[in-house]
Amino acid sequence: MTDIKIAQSVTAKHIKEVASGLNISEDQLEYYGSNKAKLPLSLIDEDQLRKNKLILVTAITPTPAGEGKTTTSIGLSDALNLIDKRTVVVLREPSLGPVFGIKGGAAGGGWSQVIPMEDINLHFTGDFHAIEKANNLLAALIDNNIQSKSKNLGIDPRTVIWKRCMDMNDRGLRNIVAALGGKSGGIPRETGFNITAASEIMAILCLSNNFEDLQEKCGNIYVGDTWEGKPVYARDLKAQGAMAVLLKDAIKPNLVQTLEGNPAIIHGGPFANIAQGTNSILATKMGLSLADYVVTEAGFGADLGAEKFMNIKCRQAGLSPKAIVLVATIRALKYHGGKPLAELTDEDTAALEKGLPNLERHIHSLRSFGLPIVVSINAFSSDTDKEKQLLFKHCESLEVPVALSYGWADGGKGCVDLAEKVAMAAESCESIFKPTYALEDSVRTKMEKVCRTIYGAENVILSNLAIRQLKRFESLGYADMPICMAKTQKSLSDDEKRLGRPENFDIHIREFEIAAGAGFIVPIAGNILRMPGLPANPASDNITIDADGNIEGLF
Ligand code: ADP
Ligand code: MG
Repeated sequence: MTDIKIAQSVTAKHIKEVASGLNISEDQLEYYGSNKAKLPLSLIDEDQLRKNKLILVTAITPTPAGEGKTTTSIGLSDALNLIDKRTVVVLREPSLGPVFGIKGGAAGGGWSQVIPMEDINLHFTGDFHAIEKANNLLAALIDNNIQSKSKNLGIDPRTVIWKRCMDMNDRGLRNIVAALGGKSGGIPRETGFNITAASEIMAILCLSNNFEDLQEKCGNIYVGDTWEGKPVYARDLKAQGAMAVLLKDAIKPNLVQTLEGNPAIIHGGPFANIAQGTNSILATKMGLSLADYVVTEAGFGADLGAEKFMNIKCRQAGLSPKAIVLVATIRALKYHGGKPLAELTDEDTAALEKGLPNLERHIHSLRSFGLPIVVSINAFSSDTDKEKQLLFKHCESLEVPVALSYGWADGGKGCVDLAEKVAMAAESCESIFKPTYALEDSVRTKMEKVCRTIYGAENVILSNLAIRQLKRFESLGYADMPICMAKTQKSLSDDEKRLGRPENFDIHIREFEIAAGAGFIVPIAGNILRMPGLPANPASDNITIDADGNIEGLF
């Protein structure tokens, strides 16, 4: 059965019922139809949330299809509820780009999904659209200022780094010339579009603590330079107030439910390669205020998602997970062992064995945070008993708790073993995570620590451009910010072809970007697209709607 057929086969509870399970009264809900609601920020309880348990779900280096972090997060959350741990799963909102591209939906899969999956994967409660509007208001104000005679800040149009954004994979907008049409059209300049998930506004929304903080962060966005080389910020354009107003509803977390009727909070969706890759701090805090357990996911592999989750998000929010779930699949490990993508469903214990070092490296890297780790083998129907046994035994030999998870096939009851092991780990965890670097470390030291401790790299090599940019950002006072490494998700190294556990490699930083509003420096290794394109056979080819409004082909 397809994901959408499974999702449509389940009768959703009214959202007020889901809310009442969390002791949220009806008058506190802001309804978006009968099965979605926004939650007021007043439900966040800073004392209560620190008593409850945060569980991070991350993964080994993924294949292009994804290894099932979202699916596992939902299955685990349903399973924790089954064993009487009051749990909320807290996830990112999907971007429309991948929905019509190749990756597929981001609302889980099989019997571990959040619903209404059509809405969640499409416009949902409009958060992405609001983010796009705030982003594009700033862009319009920039061009308006360049055009202005009386209020001109002297912005050198060639230095403007702020781009417009749209939530679509549209390579045609990646690089454009704007402001054509003569005098009334403005001063023509080269610019482009980012996909909304890659907009700094998305990163800001997900790191903001309240409305005021959101407004201040918007004001701190670095827009470009004047002709004299002085930095121009969004606040110089008086943009921050109106931008924050556009985001007044988007900042509130969204409540939905899993297929099993358990609460799910879905909010914000920054990508994990160029941004922090995890849902909003407010959503995580909301979940922890309302339930004993929060299960959450950080994008891509542990080298990107988990590292940023700890060093950027948890550090800023003052949170610390009680356990880390590392999702591994037999198919991905065979891929790391050299088996071609098209043959991953064939039994091959030799390839599996050869791929194990990728898992080992991630376990080794995650141990640096000083928190309990549980490996979850996300079982696929093509996995054979021999393969499952081999992987299970290997994890035991590494002295890490391991569970086979069948959330995709069986929902919560397929993840009970995992839930029991996670609960045991979390309940005995008394430590706070150990960051990979200190904020006072130099930017270079921060990068070296992440590259060595998390990726297993030798050195960090900066291009001449990167050296110049770093000097400038340091002189502007950004040296104490955390770093947000932009790197391929396909390898622990910066070379996507190096699968498994690469050794003896350096990380090459081509350039830096500054996200002064969100509050991090972005060292860019390799070529990371902020506006993807569609594949030759986009998923949109198969999506249809019938006379009664029934959707088909959406996964
Ligand atoms: P991630 O969050 O790691 O990117 P997802 O949970 O979104 O991964 O899963 C990626 C895709 O794989 C989804 O389409 C999902 O339905 C599918 N999937 C996940 N786990 C399984 C499984 N055990 N068997 C079959 N398909 C699965
Ligand atoms: Mg996911």
